[in-house]
Amino acid sequence: MMNVQAYVTRQYRFCAAHRLHAKELSDDVNRKVFGKCNNPNGHGHNYTVLVTVRGTINPQTGDVTDRERLDHLVATKIVERFDHRHLNHDSAFQDVVTTGENLAKFIWDELVGGIAIGQLEKIGLIETRDNYFEYQGEPCR
Ligand SMILES: [Zn+2]
Repeated sequence: MMNVQAYVTRQYRFCAAHRLHAKELSDDVNRKVFGKCNNPNGHGHNYTVLVTVRGTINPQTGDVTDRERLDHLVATKIVERFDHRHLNHDSAFQDVVTTGENLAKFIWDELVGGIAIGQLEKIGLIETRDNYFEYQGEPCR
């Protein structure tokens, strides 16, 4: 059993507030584009992040990555950074709208270089019952 590839997906959760607002657009256009999500006071979501790692099945352990190290990476880079915060106040989103698309891309960029075993394959982000986002960037190797 040489070089058999498989995928593992872990779920993580954080709660955060945001406001969809593009600085370069007028207040009127922002209201039209983002509707109630442009409310000046912001609103909150219970986000679920799905982190998928691809790797070779280790013939001894039978797994493709070290889940404890992955959990630690996501906890320190993502969950502790965003949980119970306002995303618009984070340095990453000063000039970037806090959409699910941009958040999924940011999470990819934060994690892609830190996966100890295997490679990051995809980031999924559940924002609401009806909104699910995915991002797949370039692998770092
Ligand atoms: Zn929202």
